[in-house]
Amino acid sequence: MNSSKVIQLVVENNLCIGCGLCVYKCPSDALEMKWNSEGFLVANEIKSCDCEGKCLEVCPFNPFPKDEVKTENEISDLFLKNSPNFHKKIGKYNNIYAGFSEEFRLNSSSGGLGTYILTELLENKIVDHIFSIKETKKSGVFYEYSVSSSKSDLLIASKTRYFPVTLSTVFSKIDNLEGKIAIVGVGCFIKAIRLAQNSDPKLKDKIPFLIGIICGGVKSKFFTEYLASKINIKSENIHNPQFRKKNIESSASDYSFACENEDEVEKSIRMKTVGEMWGTGLFKNNACDFCDDVTTELADISLGDAWMDPFDKDGKGTNVIVTRSLLAENLIKKGIQNKSLKVDFLPLENFLASQEGSFNHRHLGLPARIEIAKKNNQLVPPKRNEKEKVPFDFKLVQKQRIKVRAESLEIWKSNPDAKSFDAAMEKPLKKLKLYTEIYHKRRRLNYLRSRFYEILKERILFKNNPN
Ligand SMILES: Cc1cc2nc3c(=O)[nH]c(=O)nc-3n(C[C@H](O)[C@H](O)[C@H](O)COP(=O)(O)OP(=O)(O)OC[C@H]3O[C@@H](n4cnc5c(N)ncnc54)[C@H](O)[C@@H]3O)c2cc1C
Repeated sequence: MNSSKVIQLVVENNLCIGCGLCVYKCPSDALEMKWNSEGFLVANEIKSCDCEGKCLEVCPFNPFPKDEVKTENEISDLFLKNSPNFHKKIGKYNNIYAGFSEEFRLNSSSGGLGTYILTELLENKIVDHIFSIKETKKSGVFYEYSVSSSKSDLLIASKTRYFPVTLSTVFSKIDNLEGKIAIVGVGCFIKAIRLAQNSDPKLKDKIPFLIGIICGGVKSKFFTEYLASKINIKSENIHNPQFRKKNIESSASDYSFACENEDEVEKSIRMKTVGEMWGTGLFKNNACDFCDDVTTELADISLGDAWMDPFDKDGKGTNVIVTRSLLAENLIKKGIQNKSLKVDFLPLENFLASQEGSFNHRHLGLPARIEIAKKNNQLVPPKRNEKEKVPFDFKLVQKQRIKVRAESLEIWKSNPDAKSFDAAMEKPLKKLKLYTEIYHKRRRLNYLRSRFYEILKERILFKNNPN
């Protein structure tokens, strides 16, 4: 049997993120998406593949992309030619804002800009359908991509779902859907769509707008099972999991996970009491360790949480917004003018601060993870800053995060029980905390030392030349 390039070079390298664009692209129809033993959706071969690498062309983690689409920089040159600004951490953009939608905020996870923009696209007939995430009745799956063609459909597709999804469910219908389509997705999914548009220009016209969801990592379905187990609900009895239940009396980060048990009784747990779930890498997909696209650089508009003062004090939720295309910029401006949006310009440094943890991990730590992967003979996709130097103490942090990520999946697989999991993860997490503290202390010392020399220099200059 001829094996698909995606299987050989991506799936077998543990780099599949589950977007499913390869399933759509493969002319041999040799692939389907399937749950793997780590709780992720990955490409799976169902018959012999002779597509000669067509499936690989659209893969966001392809270790051997063509030069014209090598990284997000080259792809944005193709798709965001007219964006007037560029920042090496943000990519090409028009403007940066923070704020919320008056109408959708309370039914959404952050400020409701996601649902607002999608509704505007539909109501103004810029597109006819939206691909976004909705509840499904499929057992143990909870959420999946589906097609929305009305505002009421969109309202039930609001909110953040930290659950693996795949575009293959909706792309299988794309050729039979009349009209234009907008798609919501995290950075790597948006990249896959851009790659598909690059290899098939008719998709450029068909999909005129992409909404990027700023993403701190794709979690395994084990993450949902773990949170449910914390509130004594077994995986087979989980119903209607809610990942971001707001507490509007409290701060934005004080949200809860909630789900219903077999008797449809809702139980919840404040995420603050669960411990650090994002910076540690728990239950994360391995491919995310090789993604340096913090702000979903290839979308028309990127939306995230405004995790900084004063917005984080408001439990109702606030978005950070990066407009990249002119259409996105006009939609935001129109919303401000007609008062549907309470949105203001956000200084660049405030936006960067809101995603600081993600920039540190994904940009500064990436060369260390690439070095480790290459030592283990793993293939990795080309990255923009892969040659930069990583301090020794931060390398230790990266090494330990890699361990924590992999162990969390192994441990849950062998015993899906939150109490035993917490006990088994205590040691590796403590080690990670210690390495992180050492790294932070050394950075602080470096900062104080350089400030000391700056002040000393100023004093000497002043002494020698008081005027
Ligand atoms: C896996 C994941 C990780 C995230 N990490 C970060 C982060 O580190 N920093 C940050 O600032 N923001 C992060 N976000 C984004 C944040 O949680 C909000 O989704 C975003 O701010 C938009 O909020 P909103 O109120 O405008 O969206 P809403 O109006 O609630 O609409 C959300 C839209 O996103 C779609 N959606 C929900 N889940 C998914 C999914 N898994 N994949 C694709 N589309 C989805 C919905 O269908 C809906 O259209 C993450 C989101 C996800 C899904």
